[in-house]
Amino acid sequence: MKIAIAGAGAMGSRYGYMLHEKGNDVLLIDGWEDHVKAINENGLRIDENGTSKNVKIPAVLPKDATEVPDLVILFTKSMGLETMLTSIKNILGPNTKVLCLLNGLGHEETVAKYVDKKNVFMGVTLWTAGLVGPGHVTLTGDGSLEVQNIDSSMTDAAKEICDVLSQAGLKAHYSENVVFSIWRKACVNGTLNSCCTLLDCNIKQFGSLGETSNIIRKIITEFSEVAKHYGVTLDVEETAKGIEAIYDPSQAGEHYPSMHQDLIQHHRRTEIDYINGYVSRKAKELGIAAPYNDLITSFIHAKEDLLV
Ligand code: NAD
Repeated sequence: MKIAIAGAGAMGSRYGYMLHEKGNDVLLIDGWEDHVKAINENGLRIDENGTSKNVKIPAVLPKDATEVPDLVILFTKSMGLETMLTSIKNILGPNTKVLCLLNGLGHEETVAKYVDKKNVFMGVTLWTAGLVGPGHVTLTGDGSLEVQNIDSSMTDAAKEICDVLSQAGLKAHYSENVVFSIWRKACVNGTLNSCCTLLDCNIKQFGSLGETSNIIRKIITEFSEVAKHYGVTLDVEETAKGIEAIYDPSQAGEHYPSMHQDLIQHHRRTEIDYINGYVSRKAKELGIAAPYNDLITSFIHAKEDLLV
């Protein structure tokens, strides 16, 4: 399949590499010039399980992407999604399927501004990857993903996308309710990512604090109130228990969430406006109080002002 990866950072490189290894015709599209140059000159360097290799995969800046692919996989950070969609408009053909795998809320509406609804596919990925430097990524751990069509007539196309991804070892499953999974993952990010970032601690340390149980339930309750308006029912207690299971060091307890890595460790802006910030904004529009998400969003922005 002819596949363009739009946003070829850590995750885009992982997906692009695995799909390329399976024989798909992959193009990496990214706006970071040094990264694109390094990939074209030296190949994409993949560090995985203690080994390192350079893989030849073509990479271009968005303005230089000209061929219409069968599938575009969107993997920018949330803040870059709309700009990316604008700059690759010319390669989105009438039959090009677009799969959005970013974390966060509200992306379906953004993608639907640029892509016919029948070609929009949403997903949630549990794979991980890290960007070491230009043209260099590190792949760790195992993963899987869920994919679903937005238009009810496109189930077979979603299943075909799952097959292509699974053949490349990405373990894609057709989801009966991807919107629920997107909200549920946003609850994990909206508690662990933002709180560990503000408190400058890892997940296990956050879990050990006296107020944590109360705080995560307050945050998730506000998520669930907004989610209802999108037809999504989140069970607050079940969601909280799922998050509490992650405190265990055998899960991800020792890890610092990606928002901590972005803001505290690398002084980069975060995806907060698409997680707690989305709930805060939508709650205001709906006339619902969301004081926990309002405050967390303001504090993360304040921290960005201090560090970025
Ligand atoms: P990243 O910062 O490593 O990569 C994003 C890439 O997109 C960068 O190379 C950047 O140059 C490019 N980009 C961004 N905006 C652009 C634009 N407008 N035009 C051109 N290029 C643009 O990010 P990542 O870690 O790969 O994360 C991507 C998404 O996947 C995020 O939503 C993240 O939350 C989610 N995610 C990441 C992980 C992980 O382990 N890294 C795991 C699950 C989900």
